[in-house]
Amino acid sequence: MTGTDGSSPTERSCAGCGEPFRPKGRGRPGVYCRPACRQRAWALRQARAALARESGGPDSDAAVGAVPTDARGWVRILGQLRAQLADPNSELASRPWEHLRLYDGLGDALTALDEATPGGLAWLDRHG
Ligand SMILES: [Zn+2]
Repeated sequence: MTGTDGSSPTERSCAGCGEPFRPKGRGRPGVYCRPACRQRAWALRQARAALARESGGPDSDAAVGAVPTDARGWVRILGQLRAQLADPNSELASRPWEHLRLYDGLGDALTALDEATPGGLAWLDRHG
């Protein structure tokens, strides 16, 4: 299929969500069906790049995408988050407009902790 003359725009699948869509006729043909897909793909690329940096480069493949499975591991990760926020020169601290996303994510994590713990956060509060 060689639909390059533009008479009938070729349907392609979005690089973000995989849904089929027809790129707008004018300008550079997009690879995403909507801005949200482009933004999500951008955020994913940023996260992967950050992970690669965090784990010391492509040589330590095993560490890329490694998710802690115990409390100790998560506390270590959260400590890195704290350190980045406390460092005014860090990328994270210098992007306050992205902090709402962090706030939402941490809130969701707290909610999950509440639901997973017998007695919930109130119990943890009393025993902390
Ligand atoms: Zn899409």
